[in-house]
Amino acid sequence: MQLEMIKQITGTITVLTGLHIGAGKDSLEIGGLDQPVIKHPLTSEPYIPGSSIKGKMRSLLEISRFSSLRPETRQYVVKGKPCACAQPGCPACTIFGTSAAEKGPELGPTRLIVRDASLTTKWREKFKENELTMEIKYENTIDRVRGVADHPRPLERVPAGVEFDFHLSFKVFHGDPADLIEDVFRGLRLIELDALGGNSSRGCGQVRFDNLRCDGESVDLSQYTL
Ligand SMILES: [Zn+2]
Repeated sequence: MQLEMIKQITGTITVLTGLHIGAGKDSLEIGGLDQPVIKHPLTSEPYIPGSSIKGKMRSLLEISRFSSLRPETRQYVVKGKPCACAQPGCPACTIFGTSAAEKGPELGPTRLIVRDASLTTKWREKFKENELTMEIKYENTIDRVRGVADHPRPLERVPAGVEFDFHLSFKVFHGDPADLIEDVFRGLRLIELDALGGNSSRGCGQVRFDNLRCDGESVDLSQYTL
């Protein structure tokens, strides 16, 4: 396989409704919230893990376009699993990768790398000056009989308006379809239409990708749909 290009996609992620990407139980802060957002271990700045963006792009593409294109992918989707067909020509396995166990030599390296997205310079400065604090949202369940809220659980969120720098890298090998990268843009558009992170059905995680460029050329996501 011959690597012909590594395209660089950059932009800004703007948080439109409070974003909750959970830190997991291992990083509980003593005396802190039980549902914190993920933060950099040294600087305590919130960030968006590349894996969260990549995983969401993949799942949205697999339940829509990739399932309609490929019965192999659909078989995995109905079981709630990511495609692992490992067949050449499968956009899911080619772009997003599959496990080494299934991977044949034909598929080549995973084309897409999604870097962790960190605060833009402007927001990093605000964070250092203590002008950016996380939002606490209380989530209740409603007692069906008494009609009152039970067990309020504080949920930490990155507040609306915050911006993150965003960076993808996309490898093009000799023989790859020229429009393979279009599925990457489509995946980003689907995230805009859906959400990032947890609790999205309750309003969290609406984002927009701004100033999107691929090798310096402007990309208009609004042209992409399912
Ligand atoms: Zn596949």
